[in-house]
Amino acid sequence: MVQRKIKTVYDVVCPFCGTLCDDLEVDIDLTTNLVVEVRNACQIGTAKFYSSNPGEHRFEKPLIRENGKHKEVSWEEAIDKAAEILIKSKRPLLYGFSSTECEAQGKGVELAEILGCILDNTASVCHGPSLLAEQDVGIPTSTLGEYKNRADLVIFWGSNPVHAHPRHLGRYSEFIRGYFRKDGRNDRFVVVIDPRNTHTAQIADLHIQVNPNEDYELFNAIRALLREVELDEKEVSGVPISKIKELVDVIKSCSFGVIFFGMGLTQTLAHHRNIDAAICLTRELNDHTKFLITPMRGHYNVAGANTVFTWNTGYAYSIDFSRGYPRYNPGEFSSVDLLMRDEIDASLIVASDPASNFPAESVKSLFKHPLIAVEPHETPTSAFADVVLPPAIAGIECEGTAYRMDHVPLRLRKVKDAPGECLTDLEILERLIEKVKEKKGEK
Ligand code: SF4
Repeated sequence: MVQRKIKTVYDVVCPFCGTLCDDLEVDIDLTTNLVVEVRNACQIGTAKFYSSNPGEHRFEKPLIRENGKHKEVSWEEAIDKAAEILIKSKRPLLYGFSSTECEAQGKGVELAEILGCILDNTASVCHGPSLLAEQDVGIPTSTLGEYKNRADLVIFWGSNPVHAHPRHLGRYSEFIRGYFRKDGRNDRFVVVIDPRNTHTAQIADLHIQVNPNEDYELFNAIRALLREVELDEKEVSGVPISKIKELVDVIKSCSFGVIFFGMGLTQTLAHHRNIDAAICLTRELNDHTKFLITPMRGHYNVAGANTVFTWNTGYAYSIDFSRGYPRYNPGEFSSVDLLMRDEIDASLIVASDPASNFPAESVKSLFKHPLIAVEPHETPTSAFADVVLPPAIAGIECEGTAYRMDHVPLRLRKVKDAPGECLTDLEILERLIEKVKEKKGEK
């Protein structure tokens, strides 16, 4: 029997959701270079580590599509073909970046500037409205550590962490003991505001079942009651006035409250106006008690993508370099809108799978034109790509920096080598930049 040699890596950061849990332990079989056990992660985080093991869905060599089928080629050939597609295109799109590390994101900005193309990240289909509202009215916010130690009232509005951020509740917001909340769950009052009876709602102390798309009205009813305005309605947004008054009493009597909001607010009818109202409510609550607000970011480094894009260009997403300098206009320069209007004639997708979550018409438009995917797995996007450039998975097979949902930067760890010929996202983008410059005669 072959003796297995196991290496354990401690304090690993999970590269899946914006909670960025940093207490994982991962066992690697050194004889096979396989992940054999993951401790402390939730189910979805664990699945990501196992997905790095070679298998039929993991790419290990660059691929080019020929006669409708992918064939393996050298890195030289694949990079040459990808660069050729990008420089021949009149209006290329660089999209994704939220599931890779900050150093690679910076290279994405550099490539977009050289190409004079559109640069966008996944915030454009998730928390873009939060960024718009923050630009309008600012944001009173803090770190997850502060909430863990101090919050005695936690409101989840339009978010369902039991499914989307499973360890958020156990590490920061609900069940955890904090410095001033020694009795954990017993020291906190938890409210869920959601049209659905989600699993998070089922373990809350109070569930407010607001009508779909009517959160904006509910925010303003709460703001009016806080100012002691009498409302001459029996209900607002499907919630009886007596229940809204009960919520206002709960809020006013807490000593430290926080609102965690998700895509149930950003992607419903009032979009950034919902977040605007949420932030204004939070600010006004500080006349009564201490109150803060934090978006529940999904992809593990979407906050990093927004930060890196902003420090390089001044803008967090939906950026157009076609005039030689960055311009910003969500709606005009965001990926889905551009694809719907069929204005994109080639795409480079990095660490993302838009074909599985964009509207069908925009996916049709994406597939109509040359497509390059920097993607470790077979996905609906990479399956239709003309060029597939297989990367090492950041946070598992290479190091890097990632920003947690509260904008705390954490260092991702490498736990094992990447299989086959995979390069890091950073190396792939550096090679592309060199080849594009060479073909444009800039070297
Ligand atoms: S909650 Fe998020 S970051 Fe934490 S282990 Fe689960 S997927 Fe990973």
